[in-house]
Amino acid sequence: MGALIEDAVIDNETMVEKFLRMDRLPHIWCSGCGIGTAMRSTIEALAEMDVPQQDFAVVSGIGCTARVAGYLKMDSFHTTHGRSIPFATGLKLANPKLKVFVFSGDGDLFAIGGNHLIHAARRNMDLKVICVNNFIYGMTGGQVGCTTPTHSKTSTTPYGNYEPPFNLCFLAAAAGAVYVARWTTYHVRQIKKSVQEAFSKRGFSFIEVISPCPTVYGSRNSFPTGLDMMKYFKANSQTVVAADPREAAIEKGGKIMVGKFVDAERPSFQDRLSEMWGELEGDEGRVVEAE
Ligand code: SF4
Ligand code: MG
Repeated sequence: MGALIEDAVIDNETMVEKFLRMDRLPHIWCSGCGIGTAMRSTIEALAEMDVPQQDFAVVSGIGCTARVAGYLKMDSFHTTHGRSIPFATGLKLANPKLKVFVFSGDGDLFAIGGNHLIHAARRNMDLKVICVNNFIYGMTGGQVGCTTPTHSKTSTTPYGNYEPPFNLCFLAAAAGAVYVARWTTYHVRQIKKSVQEAFSKRGFSFIEVISPCPTVYGSRNSFPTGLDMMKYFKANSQTVVAADPREAAIEKGGKIMVGKFVDAERPSFQDRLSEMWGELEGDEGRVVEAE
């Protein structure tokens, strides 16, 4: 029995290593950071899908989470701050067969890159977006961000944040995403399942993974270690089914709604484009006129 478990662990490790650029390790993340957990669940999801590894492409922006693109062994683009979605859009349009996903942080995707995100969701671009939300700008020193819960302390709000944060799931859903889910790094199996579900859909899918950043967020907000925050996630996550994402706002010290909020169907950007080109090709007069 012991040998069987050992073999399974070795198989699992081999499968994960296949998706990693082992020569880039060790990674840069702090002890107790949750980004590696989110990355591992994603790798496990990809490894189990019936898709050749070379058909995946990952794009990230800038920040601690954005480093993931450099560690994944596939076509990967570690792009400029906030611009992962436009890069990913170009990639998908140039080669629609690629399974393109974006792996980046809350500041990168919803602050500097926020406008790109809402418009990709509106267009229903066929992208899968995994956003690690650690409530803060981690890499640059723990400044307040658009996801920092009200009253949380940061390096730039030492007496507490006085602004309300974005509710990322509601924002993605309102902008038009066809798949929206939220988990914490405590929910490793659920993240994996959500990534697979997101890839099974055509259109813009969004997964928020709430993650500990003990170094610059937790240390100022009563979670000095990653484990403290994981215990908080375990005790305070409330799993919901098809709940209204409007209700999923996060408050400091409050419950965290996790689960799938949206699983809908509507034509993707490329579906609409092919339909329109089909119509134009069937109408010679309009095509000639357009030329
Ligand atoms: Fe992770 Fe925070 Fe350290 Fe960045 S600063 S690696 S987010 S713990
Ligand atoms: Mg962040």
